[in-house]
Amino acid sequence: MRYVKISTQNTYEFLERLKKIGVLYAPHKISDKFYDFCEVEDVNNVVFNYHRTIRPPRHFFYPEREVLFAFDTRKVELYENTPSKRKQILFGVHSCDIVALRTMDSKFLDDQPDPYYKTRRENGIIIGLSCLPDEYCFCNVRRVEFVDAGFDLFFHELPDGFLVRVGTVVGHKLVDPYEKELFQEVTPADVEYMSSFEEKRSSMFTVKGNWDNLRYFMELRLDHPMYMRESEKCLGCGNCTLTCPSCKCYDVQDIPSIDGRTGERVRFWDSCQFRSHGLVAGDHNFRETKKDRFINRYHCKNSYCTATTTSYCVGCGRCTYFCPAEIQFKKNLMEIAGYHGGA
Ligand code: SF4
Ligand code: SF4
Repeated sequence: MRYVKISTQNTYEFLERLKKIGVLYAPHKISDKFYDFCEVEDVNNVVFNYHRTIRPPRHFFYPEREVLFAFDTRKVELYENTPSKRKQILFGVHSCDIVALRTMDSKFLDDQPDPYYKTRRENGIIIGLSCLPDEYCFCNVRRVEFVDAGFDLFFHELPDGFLVRVGTVVGHKLVDPYEKELFQEVTPADVEYMSSFEEKRSSMFTVKGNWDNLRYFMELRLDHPMYMRESEKCLGCGNCTLTCPSCKCYDVQDIPSIDGRTGERVRFWDSCQFRSHGLVAGDHNFRETKKDRFINRYHCKNSYCTATTTSYCVGCGRCTYFCPAEIQFKKNLMEIAGYHGGA
């Protein structure tokens, strides 16, 4: 792997140059408590220290709502919607979110490639950014706190800039034109700092070890009392799934126009926490109760993803941070598995 260094001042200049390649998105503070990936107009507004964005990066490749095609019954014609091929550059993506994007790839690219997702993903550039955890994070027990694939560049914090790992050919092409102007060689002191940063980060997590055996305990304790107790608090709002970086469920509806002749087929994010999600013909519901829906999410998120060799849940903490009922996902999982030591 190739490593280079960039100063803080040159990082701002590098972001300016990236804007010339495509649409640059980066973390911005949008309210007292919330951050989001926003289009960068002024590079000085980019936030380098944040814990999580309200919207997960997947929405750049798999939007919350998109028209798949339009139809006109008078002409018996379909007008397919082709996704834009404009370059989308995501700067400041944390390790957990990069792994979550790889879980999305495993569903939308590896099995039956989804042309809408594929086009956007092929035109996406991912630039990672190191971070320190808060009390909601548990990416360490998911083994994804240090990512080794899925990024073009990865920026690791240094006192006076960043140590940059170059992950792909696209990453090389971003660095090459500015190698002499904006980048420098990495020094032993930089490596020393990176290593102490990693050690500091490991010590800050409130849970330790790895949770690889969690899914087996979940299967063995299907009737754990936690499910009834916690699902009674659940409002069924769907925040936990809509903010999750690895949730994939969608619904597709044909929406006719008022003229009765034209219309659109629309795909939009769905949530397994909605009652309608398990509803099928004949008014039968596969997940009739809140408890059924609650159990479904816990098992889905903790199932094994072959592509990343860990669970679909990457431990980003969003589902707890944004839950209006203050349901503690990490703590509840620990209760099922019988893990002790922090939550
Ligand atoms: S965010 Fe909380 S209240 Fe809303 S559906 Fe999820 S668990 Fe239930
Ligand atoms: S289940 Fe919760 S903690 Fe896990 S990836 Fe989704 S939002 Fe993050």
